[in-house]
Amino acid sequence: MEQIRTLSSERNTEFRLTFWGVRGTLASPGIEFQRTGGNTICAELKCGDRIIVFDAGTGIRELGSKLIAQNRVRKLDLMFTHVHYDHVEGTPFFAPFFLPDFKVNVWMGQLDGAKSAEDAMKGLMRRPYFPVGPGIFTADITYCDVPDCAEFDLGDGIKLRTAPLNHPGGATAYRIDFQGRSFAFVTDTEHVPGKPNQDIIKLITDVDLFAYDTSLTDEELPDFVGYGHSTWEEALRLRETANAGAMLGVHHMPFRTDDEVDKMERHIKKVHPPSGMAREGMSVDLMNLPVRVKQQA
Ligand SMILES: [Zn+2]
Ligand SMILES: [Zn+2]
Repeated sequence: MEQIRTLSSERNTEFRLTFWGVRGTLASPGIEFQRTGGNTICAELKCGDRIIVFDAGTGIRELGSKLIAQNRVRKLDLMFTHVHYDHVEGTPFFAPFFLPDFKVNVWMGQLDGAKSAEDAMKGLMRRPYFPVGPGIFTADITYCDVPDCAEFDLGDGIKLRTAPLNHPGGATAYRIDFQGRSFAFVTDTEHVPGKPNQDIIKLITDVDLFAYDTSLTDEELPDFVGYGHSTWEEALRLRETANAGAMLGVHHMPFRTDDEVDKMERHIKKVHPPSGMAREGMSVDLMNLPVRVKQQA
């Protein structure tokens, strides 16, 4: 009995999401933005002893420092939705890239103007835009090019699925299933009013939680056609159609003050109280979310 207890307590079953940056487009320092957070987009998903990171906005720098300080995890999967500046600015400042005992898988979908994930990374770090190329990294890096609507077994009970997004130059959404629970990261994407994105619906069907591009409101969208972004209203419509558990809005515009984000969240909660806005530092225990009836058996 004692032995069984010891074995089960040793198995790490943590499934936790933490936001290290929630801004889109540009970082926004300043007192009016502090409660929401000013760093650009980066989210960490702990799956037992593995860590999956979505995007490398400015928020990834602090995540890197934490991982080094904790001195536990040595294997990471860094999944890029795409390589627009706001999603990659932190890449050269992610400390684990500079430690030879780190193994990092870099995931990326098809992007206009890049032949592969490795090609995109080289384009991101080159003169005259940056003093050194990714050759400076000493970690063991593997580049993984992901097709649209693909499924991968990442090992350790972690399943990955992808979906293409409607964004200039292309972008990829990711879903992770682990221990019967699930999370999807869906940004940046533009919706066509009245025509819900079927690839996204398929990806987030029955998901427990998803982060979604709530850069805009339905009222603002007509002024931003072609920018590649969506609204909190569409996020909630997709949630309902796909029978998803809850939605957290991300990619807050740089001009969106804390009070404005709070106001958007109040609107969201009127429609669906468990959903809301993501803020920097927010952490969600995915194993503790309410168990729900799934649409697909
Ligand atoms: Zn963006
Ligand atoms: Zn973008």
